[in-house]
Amino acid sequence: MMRAAALAVVLASPAIAQEAADTIVVPQDGAGQRDLLMLDDAAYGACLTALDELGVVYSEAAPIVPEDDADCGILRPLTITEIAPGVAIDPAATVRCPTAEALAVWTRDFVLPAAARLDDRGPLASILNGSGYICRRRNNAADGKLSEHAFGNAFDVMGFTFTDGANIAIEPREAQGTMAESFQDAVRASACLDFSTVLGPGSNAMHDDHLHLDIVARSSGYRLCEQGGATDQ
Ligand SMILES: [Zn+2]
Repeated sequence: MMRAAALAVVLASPAIAQEAADTIVVPQDGAGQRDLLMLDDAAYGACLTALDELGVVYSEAAPIVPEDDADCGILRPLTITEIAPGVAIDPAATVRCPTAEALAVWTRDFVLPAAARLDDRGPLASILNGSGYICRRRNNAADGKLSEHAFGNAFDVMGFTFTDGANIAIEPREAQGTMAESFQDAVRASACLDFSTVLGPGSNAMHDDHLHLDIVARSSGYRLCEQGGATDQ
């Protein structure tokens, strides 16, 4: 409760959040993943400028530093409310700036053009947020590797809403033969160009109702792009 209250205060005053973020002391020994992922001032500033140019609506939030975990957290978190002009993130998402930038570029370059082909729904109104930051392990397991959500590197897309027509929820759609299936397939495939991990229906039972997108940097440069729906064809 204390953390939530502090966050609410800081959200109302981005200048204070920036000051707080700038005064973080990064431990020299035993630095956790959240410390290693913090952008320096130049990179962070460039990222915020990119978001501004993309028309993202965001606020800087207080550093997220769980006392009981050295790795979880985000030292310079953002709260994203619009990912493109007129396109909400619902509910608002907490992520690192580079995650927001990837999401905004994907939305501009692929999601909006794909949505424009859906002539019975009107303009894209929102991307439904399944999860941004959360300190947890992969697939909600009790132990094992932390999820990229634990560092603010990941975002889960539950679906899309439109101004004048039916929502498109992420779900198994193989051979459905609908425009909703074509839209889902198009945005999922294109996400592999902006995110280094894309999981969804068909990846495993945990991902049947959302697309998991993250920007993890693998030392090999490998990209995990799962399009699901293995067929006999
Ligand atoms: Zn996820």
